[in-house]
Amino acid sequence: MREYTTQMEAARKGIITHELKTVAEKEMMKVEELLPLVVSGKVVICANINHKCLDPQGVGSMLSTKINVNLGVSRDCKNYDVEMKKVMEAVNMGAHAIMDLSSHGDTAPFRRKLISECPVMIGTVPVYDSVIHYQRDLGSLTARDFIDVVRLHAKDGVDFVTLHCGITRKTIEQIKNHKRKMNIVSRGGSLVFAWMCMTGQENPFYEYYDEILEICREYDVTISLGDACRPGCLADASDVCQIEELVRLGELTKRAWEKDVQVMVEGPGHMPLDQIAANMKIQQTICNGAPFYVLGPLVTDIAPGYDHITSAIGGAVAASAGAAFLCYVTPAEHLALPNLEDVKQGIIASKIAAHAADIAKGIKGARELDDRMADARRNLDWESQWECAIDPKTARQIREDRKPEHEDTCSMCGKFCAVRSMNKALSGELIDIL
Ligand code: SF4
Repeated sequence: MREYTTQMEAARKGIITHELKTVAEKEMMKVEELLPLVVSGKVVICANINHKCLDPQGVGSMLSTKINVNLGVSRDCKNYDVEMKKVMEAVNMGAHAIMDLSSHGDTAPFRRKLISECPVMIGTVPVYDSVIHYQRDLGSLTARDFIDVVRLHAKDGVDFVTLHCGITRKTIEQIKNHKRKMNIVSRGGSLVFAWMCMTGQENPFYEYYDEILEICREYDVTISLGDACRPGCLADASDVCQIEELVRLGELTKRAWEKDVQVMVEGPGHMPLDQIAANMKIQQTICNGAPFYVLGPLVTDIAPGYDHITSAIGGAVAASAGAAFLCYVTPAEHLALPNLEDVKQGIIASKIAAHAADIAKGIKGARELDDRMADARRNLDWESQWECAIDPKTARQIREDRKPEHEDTCSMCGKFCAVRSMNKALSGELIDIL
């Protein structure tokens, strides 16, 4: 019999769980340093008691930045085997979390397979699954139906659930009056908004929040407080709708912590580069340091096909200013369900952003690989360079495809290689160029 329910409760009782110990080792921290961060909610360890094969990770701005990969079938692309292949590829490439956003067919077997085979954190958005689970249209679902799906996912072993608890009936008026360019672009947020409009009732995830907390406490599910009003274009960034919802998310964070339930808070969205750092600070203040999970931010609206780059730029700035968790974005964002190559490109871009931020934040161990890479480059030691590379396969392939005449250079400058020239000059050798 466990003496605690959630990782937060264990930490508050001074119990060093296996999960806490594992996270401390990974982050090169002492358990005594990590424990108070879990107590205060600044770090979450998303670890559902029913996710038996989980290799635990911590999420918090003072830890290494984590990345999430969204996957799952849709009506247009419904091959669960293909999706499972993407999942395994994503895990092998270093994803720390997989969010199953499946919105078609029988979602339960895929979710359960994921939880039984996947060692990374698993997240879901129960409101998507509600329509699929009951095979009934949105307007016919009851508040109870939504809560029961949260319970189902919790029981299945999902480590974190995105719940759009922060929009209320007041938001309906705000959205109508405020005249945003992109209204609501959060898929879950739009469903909750539409349900409130159709039924005239309050948001069930807000109204029955206490009951949701009981469920999350029982299975140790971390709540990822969804930002239904995240800006969907630069023009809507940092507007009243976004900030008003954030204030409510701050209140809901405190209520969860009172019940020892772990919380992350989701954030923007599309946002001009110069607003990102300030947004991270505002979130940290309003939400008392709860880990911030950002969906981008995408720093321009005009690069469809390249949004893994627009989000990596925003993600690096966000994480260096305090975001703890980056949701990857693929080149297919705004266009289509990502294929395997899109997933790969999205993960690499997110890993670069996370790593760049970790260096800037001085996260333990983050700079070592860069320094080893610099040594390998100075020594023109290509094999050692591949060992340090985020994507060694691509790096090796590019060099193989455009082989230089001389092995101690690359085909960019050939014998004009600055590295070669400097090595020779400093060791008193003649430099042969012609
Ligand atoms: S040839 Fe030019 S690009 Fe290539 S390693 Fe030397 S300096 Fe760098």
